[in-house]
Amino acid sequence: MTNLPLAATADDGETRSVWTGMKRGMKRRCPHCGEGKLFAGYLKVEPVCAACGHANGLYRADDGPAYFTILLVGHLIVAPLLALSFIASMSPILIIVLGLPLTAAATLGALPYIKGAWIGVLWGTRASPGDEMLTDKPY
Ligand SMILES: [Zn+2]
Repeated sequence: MTNLPLAATADDGETRSVWTGMKRGMKRRCPHCGEGKLFAGYLKVEPVCAACGHANGLYRADDGPAYFTILLVGHLIVAPLLALSFIASMSPILIIVLGLPLTAAATLGALPYIKGAWIGVLWGTRASPGDEMLTDKPY
């Protein structure tokens, strides 16, 4: 038995929904309670929820949010470049001048929401590599 707190564990007896976690995370709220702020800054996860005390810092988002942001923004930017024929007749310099800031803004704008949703998925699936360190349950 440890003296560490019981946190995002598989044996806390509650039912979790991936969809609920995604919705709460996409709002940049704690996936556990939906009230506390998920991020302490732009992308830094608040280690412990101020509202419910859930250990959100256990969820390691890693490259998931970046992958899905690239997937989303890539489709939003590249698809019109390929599908809209008038863009092909524009100057490449003009496409770069317009496209790069648009791509950067879309990426930076979407990333916190996608990271929040990703952490919500991790919460809903109980995919926290630190869980086993915080439970009393032997594995
Ligand atoms: Zn909370």
